[in-house]
Amino acid sequence: MFTLPPLPFAPEALEPHMSARTLSFHHGKHHQAYVDKANAAIKDTPLADQDDVAVVRAAKAQGNQGLFNNAAQAWNHSFLWNSLSPGGGGAPAGALKDAIDRDLGGMEKFAETFKAEAVGHFASGWAWLVADGGTLKVVSTHDADTALVHDGLTPLVVLDLWEHAYYLDYQNARPGFVDAFLAKMINWEFATRNFAAI
Ligand code: MN
Repeated sequence: MFTLPPLPFAPEALEPHMSARTLSFHHGKHHQAYVDKANAAIKDTPLADQDDVAVVRAAKAQGNQGLFNNAAQAWNHSFLWNSLSPGGGGAPAGALKDAIDRDLGGMEKFAETFKAEAVGHFASGWAWLVADGGTLKVVSTHDADTALVHDGLTPLVVLDLWEHAYYLDYQNARPGFVDAFLAKMINWEFATRNFAAI
């Protein structure tokens, strides 16, 4: 069963980097539609009372692409809202900083790598910072695909690369959107909690 979580910040809190208008469509329309379609697909099935992660994994295991698309998108968007923060940007501290230095060549190199992955990703998808076992990596997934179902990967933080995430604010300029995410919105506290939980 999926639910639409409230945004963890006020709709205008990310302006000017992400507008309340973008969030009203992205959270209120797109995310809501994924939640509704996923719930409709599992209604009156054994998956109806499973949690969202279990449904995403089951859809993948069963090869049920229609359910997977909506279930994964519902989960990805809930993860996305937590990946954004009005006080975001900057750099993490502690163990996550040490791991970025060790595995990704430091914060500046991480930002370069993440931007290249996000901007270079063809069409719709998601850019992720993940832990692959104990090693940090930057990866991207296509369409609804989610790092959640890739063996060994633990998602730490994500950026939505679908045009609906940025078109109202940046039109076709995905690089500007990615820059704003890295400089002003990325929620390192969320990533740090996810890393600590591995
Ligand atoms: Mn989206």
